[in-house]
Amino acid sequence: MKIIFLGSQASGKGTQAILLSKKLNIPHISTGDIFRATIKSGNELGRTLNEYISKGSLVPDELTNKVIEERLKKEDVKNGYILDGYPRTFEQAVFLDKIQKIDKVFEINISDEEAIKRISNRRSCSCGKTYNLLYNPPKKEGICDLCGKPLFVREDDQPETVKKRLKLYHQKTKPLIDYYKKQGVLITVDGERPIEIIHQDILNIIKKK
Ligand SMILES: [Zn+2]
Repeated sequence: MKIIFLGSQASGKGTQAILLSKKLNIPHISTGDIFRATIKSGNELGRTLNEYISKGSLVPDELTNKVIEERLKKEDVKNGYILDGYPRTFEQAVFLDKIQKIDKVFEINISDEEAIKRISNRRSCSCGKTYNLLYNPPKKEGICDLCGKPLFVREDDQPETVKKRLKLYHQKTKPLIDYYKKQGVLITVDGERPIEIIHQDILNIIKKK
């Protein structure tokens, strides 16, 4: 089973990808994790990646493709895998098709309003701990449980920043969605339901195959 998860920020796609990876016992491959591990390894690819990431620039498609191609050569993917955060562009999807045959693409769909609602309830602490006022609020309003410092809204989580990022996501992802729809592998899942229900829904879809 070779599976891709697509979804906007705060869609819960990462959570679903990890749950499914545990259930099917196949690796969860997140580009963020691979980038960090490659940089840590200190090889040439890692150094090149670090140049982009440390500057806050987007990693070019060609480089991301190379990193994924290397990862998919490893022994542990022989029974399948779940890709999370890749492909992110149409060009990446075309590249992936050349090296692998994807079975299913799950799009975890939430409205922009819901994404903004979820993100605007995020609170951060300078110690690194994060909270969500909807799902895991701090014991005392506005104060970190761990260190007692005041909580704040990160710049990244400000509604205007979130709106901009969502717009970019839709622009980049629309061609991907159309591409996988045409191939008949796209399944859109309603992401505005409880985590366990969505997980069961995904399992049922896979079993039906
Ligand atoms: Zn704290």
